[in-house]
Amino acid sequence: MPELPEVETVANGVNSRVRGQSIASVWLSRYKEPFKTSRSEMAEALPGLRIKRVYREGKHIVFDLVGEKGRKACAEEQTQWIVHLGMTGRLLVSPPEVPRPDHTHAVISLSGDRELRFVDARRFGRLALHRVLPGGEGFRGPGREPLSISSEDFVALFRNRNLSIKAALLNQKLLHGVGNIYADESLFRARIRPTRIAGRLSRARLLRLHTAVKEILRMAIQLGGSSVSDYVDADGAAGFFQLEHKVYMRTGEPCLVCGKPIQRIVLAGRGTHFCAHCQR
Ligand SMILES: [Zn+2]
Repeated sequence: MPELPEVETVANGVNSRVRGQSIASVWLSRYKEPFKTSRSEMAEALPGLRIKRVYREGKHIVFDLVGEKGRKACAEEQTQWIVHLGMTGRLLVSPPEVPRPDHTHAVISLSGDRELRFVDARRFGRLALHRVLPGGEGFRGPGREPLSISSEDFVALFRNRNLSIKAALLNQKLLHGVGNIYADESLFRARIRPTRIAGRLSRARLLRLHTAVKEILRMAIQLGGSSVSDYVDADGAAGFFQLEHKVYMRTGEPCLVCGKPIQRIVLAGRGTHFCAHCQR
């Protein structure tokens, strides 16, 4: 499942390929699940709009769309197209002659002779329109942004939380975009046992965790950026960049710091990997 760094990488990759292009036409699949906004409304709204920019907001990819001159007045309202990749969703930028992959749910034909395709085998991904009224705010996902939240706000998020710090990190209503991989890696980096109760962690340890979360996410974004072309170009066959995991999925292997075996438990319903010696 794509987490914050992958979503950021996809958003940046798509932005560099489609920014400034106009939407000529739209094709949508007959499936219901991917469309949070109805198919008919989406098919009606998108053609004729120009893609001003594409960026990440939480784990959503946001397309800022503006009216084309003489086509649609944009003074009163702005439209955003929101993509959530879910478990298996992908956004591909392909020439029209490349055959559409199985499980293609949306095809947006662009003025630059490319197609933007949304492909999703398991159909947990979602497409939606978001209308921004004049002076209104753009789409905001739930939860706070881990890369820009202040240290004080980060510490405050976990105050009085009577659940494990791992579960708290995974709670998208608190902090968005941190999934299983980066939660495990951040806790290892901060030397905090995933089972610790969030509300009982000292301020110093939470500050250390905040630093670790930011470092891990930034590192992943940086490394992920280089592999963008693998999954937004052409057939998009390759998967996401794999972070050089220190604990995630390394059960039984020696800890890279102390040499003791990495352990795995199930916490908050998720496989959780940690070093019992380094993380207290
Ligand atoms: Zn260790």
